[in-house]
Amino acid sequence: MIKTSIPGATPLVADKLKNLGLLTQADLVLHLPLRFEDETRITLIAAAVPDAAAQFDVTVISSEIVYRPRRQLICRVEDASGTLQFRFLNFYPSQQKVLQPGARLRVFGEVRGGFWGTEMIHPRFRVLHDDEALPTELTPVYPTTAGLGQATLRRLIGRALQEVDLGETLPDPIVKRLQLADLAASVRLLHVTPHETAPPAARQRIAFDELLAQQISLRQAYAARRMHQAPRLAGDGALTGRLLAALPFRLTDAQARVWQEISRDLAEPHPMQRLLQGDVGSGKTVVAALAMLQTVEAGHQAALMAPTEILAEQHYRKLAAWLAPLGLEVAWLSGSQKKKDKQASIAKVGAGKTALLVGTHALIEENVEFARLGLAIVDEQHRFGVRQRLALKQKGLHSHQLAMSATPIPRTLAMSVYADLDVSVIDELPPGRTKVVTKLVGAARRHEIVARVRELCRSGRQVYWVCPLIEESEVLQLKTAEETYAHLMAELPELRIGLVHGRIKSDAKAAVMAAFVKNEIQLLVATTVIEVGVDVPNASLMVIEHAERFGLAQLHQLRGRVGRGAAESACILLYEQPLSETARARLKIIYENSDGFEIARQDLHLRGPGEFIGSRQSGLPLLRFADLEDTALVEAARAAAEEMLAEWPGHAERHLARWLGGRAELLRKR
Ligand code: ADP
Ligand code: MG
Repeated sequence: MIKTSIPGATPLVADKLKNLGLLTQADLVLHLPLRFEDETRITLIAAAVPDAAAQFDVTVISSEIVYRPRRQLICRVEDASGTLQFRFLNFYPSQQKVLQPGARLRVFGEVRGGFWGTEMIHPRFRVLHDDEALPTELTPVYPTTAGLGQATLRRLIGRALQEVDLGETLPDPIVKRLQLADLAASVRLLHVTPHETAPPAARQRIAFDELLAQQISLRQAYAARRMHQAPRLAGDGALTGRLLAALPFRLTDAQARVWQEISRDLAEPHPMQRLLQGDVGSGKTVVAALAMLQTVEAGHQAALMAPTEILAEQHYRKLAAWLAPLGLEVAWLSGSQKKKDKQASIAKVGAGKTALLVGTHALIEENVEFARLGLAIVDEQHRFGVRQRLALKQKGLHSHQLAMSATPIPRTLAMSVYADLDVSVIDELPPGRTKVVTKLVGAARRHEIVARVRELCRSGRQVYWVCPLIEESEVLQLKTAEETYAHLMAELPELRIGLVHGRIKSDAKAAVMAAFVKNEIQLLVATTVIEVGVDVPNASLMVIEHAERFGLAQLHQLRGRVGRGAAESACILLYEQPLSETARARLKIIYENSDGFEIARQDLHLRGPGEFIGSRQSGLPLLRFADLEDTALVEAARAAAEEMLAEWPGHAERHLARWLGGRAELLRKR
């Protein structure tokens, strides 16, 4: 239990505040208004603007309970200029008692032109006393939760603003250099001034401090992990050199650069904490293989974990093929393996007989003990839950860690979310890729697309057909996949068609995938299990049904399955009409862009960072004030955090305490 300490709050109120993440007075001070209401003026009924909030002083004329058809309280009121009706669908006897003819009220709410004349539904009102002065400032409306009234919040926040120490936590030189506005003044201002009219400097100060707290906390976590010892995996280049020489291609400049970064990290005596980002098809696997080989050269073991069976298996095959000529065995571990085979892999790894292990999350779920794990690689790391990532970290607490992701995230977001990692980016695709032509086609023209699939397959090409996504229900998802498959079988009887989805047994799945690789299957009907990693260069067309249901990152990943060979490739996004505004905007982004980073940037812009990274999944607190599109501010905060941690650790601690309070510990555990 987290204890709260807010003077003036009853235990019940304190509990509600806790639901809002408000544990201390310092938290209250940083709880800024959502919006403001103008209670400084009285509007005449005759001058009321429909649907705009306004305040009226009125006298009750009549008040009665009617049934039309529901029980409701109707109350007529007037002022010097006209009359108005209040309607309450829910009300307390106490409210009814106040609303007696002759009562004088001050009312706030929106006026509507309803069927029964001009009316206000559930207006907020109170009895008006003689000579009551109007407030001179706008009334803040704070984010709240059920059972916690604005009046209470305002009172507690007002008190906190008096009592909390809002002294500067930043060292003078930083405040001066960045020309930051005074914090205390900025905070006070934002409690009484609407966002739109507040001076930008005040908002910027809050945003900066928030970003700074995030950077300090993540950089601290990074530094703490760096204190651990890890084996130096210097390597002698014997194996990596042989792999590089045997590859049918040369590394791109970007691959060579990130490989250098990783290679250097591995040779250090503390754990690497690196994220390797690279768009779909940028060639991350070979970089992973090189890292694993350097680990083996140094006499340690390396593990590679992938989120799906298909992907893990593909990695396994690819690595096995690359490494067998070097005389290295790769062990395989997956949940669906026979118990005996699983035990065999675990035993080999435990005895140190095999230096390399590839698999699914069986790697962390099964009781695997490595003899001397030096490097743990997680592919498509964002697809693993926090818990699973932590489990792998624990297994290799003192090993080097490499996470790989094909979901590119914009640089500022990466700097923010991944501030506790070093980030390498492969920002270049291998040469010879053909651009994938993307088409948006209404579902009404599905038959044309089916005809195109027939033609393409007849000419020797292969096609992916992605089933509509049904996120809510796995059962429905399977049913839809099977129906799509049955339909296409009926429509294209001359083609060899296969089906893969999440529930197909892994043997069967592997058989289907192998058949597709060999072009024994021409049309592969699939769910998003093929989203990541699958690599069949002869496939040149992908059709995605109900494209509007997919996330942008997902569509980009899926589309990345084609355009891997020399043939001209296309991706057809079938959509159901009518499209909503947002759906249209999203599909337009995919249609117009092929660069994953640009898609991510626009997606972020459309959805905001919370939804973008999946706040629950990342375990990060949402930034409330900072805008991650403000690159300069994020960068300034990053630099200031480094400077403070190095030269003003006391300031850094105080700053963190103000912003994170009791939650700091929670964050560090992520
Ligand atoms: P991703 O980054 O999406 O995981 P992969 O590692 O699967 O990409 O690589 C995609 C394809 O590109 C694979 O077939 C791989 O062998 C090939 N590839 C990787 N690097 C190069 C390169 N430098 N030149 C040519 N082909 C490459
Ligand atoms: Mg990959």
